[in-house]
Amino acid sequence: MATGRFAPSPTGRMHLGNVFTALMSWLSARASGGKWILRIEDLDPQRSRLDYARIIEDDLCWLGLDWDEGGLDGRGVNGSYLQSLRHDFYREALSRLMESGMTYPCTCRRADIMASQAPHQSDGRVIYRGTCRPDCLPAPYDYSAHDEGRKAAVRIAVPEEDILFDDLVFGPQSVNLARECGDFILRRADGAWAYQLAVVVDDAAMGVEEVVRGCDLLLSAAQQTFLFRQLGLEPPRYAHLPLICNRDGVRLSKRDQSMSMEELRKRHTVEEVIGLLASLVGLIPEAAPCTAASLIPLFSWSKFHPAQERIIMP
Ligand code: GLU
Repeated sequence: MATGRFAPSPTGRMHLGNVFTALMSWLSARASGGKWILRIEDLDPQRSRLDYARIIEDDLCWLGLDWDEGGLDGRGVNGSYLQSLRHDFYREALSRLMESGMTYPCTCRRADIMASQAPHQSDGRVIYRGTCRPDCLPAPYDYSAHDEGRKAAVRIAVPEEDILFDDLVFGPQSVNLARECGDFILRRADGAWAYQLAVVVDDAAMGVEEVVRGCDLLLSAAQQTFLFRQLGLEPPRYAHLPLICNRDGVRLSKRDQSMSMEELRKRHTVEEVIGLLASLVGLIPEAAPCTAASLIPLFSWSKFHPAQERIIMP
């Protein structure tokens, strides 16, 4: 029995790729007899809108994906399920990490960091070279003595060792964070919480045991595993999914209007949408209409092997 969760960012209408994640996460939780939580990741105040969260809830209901906890109106023993209302939890975790002596303030600007990138790092990923890292770590940093005070970001120093975890789809993973991303940000210079910290704090507080999401977040799983361990917490198990791509082989985005829930709901029945997604990963032999609930007994992570990084829409 594993508690799962779906954690959409309410920055637009869901597309088929988001629905794929929601469906697989829901099926895995339900197949194991576990709970399914809906967490609204509205950390970015500029891009998040509550009306999108409402529409996401409506789309999930249409799809037949019910949640046991969370959503816009949810409140559990650990507070709200909206990240924008969970600052106290993030603050508390950050002070614990600061006390561990592995964090430090960073005043580097993005442009400076980009300028120090090796030319082959063209996938947009930024590897931090440790410009602001003090020589004396681990040692609790006296932030009050820092001139720029709150204008500095807070980074956590990552070890020169491989982080190991097993992914239910992609198998055993070994990631050297120093090489793959460098010391990463926990709180931005403008005070905003970093996704990595918020996700770890929330997954722990909400008792999440299984995280299902797109394989673009596989590196994040290593960062999060590291943070869980730094906080003395047990990481959940991870299942990273192939990314659904359009016919040009490009990952679906909000720009692929025809794959947005708005269009899908106009042109298809819910059973057609679910049947198509189930057939893409071989849960059913061909794209025959079916309900989400009818797939529960058919679900197994072994059907995802061998792991693919991309699924091109037929
Ligand atoms: N909020 C993220 C997104 O919508 C998902 C993060 C996660 O599942 O860990 O892409």
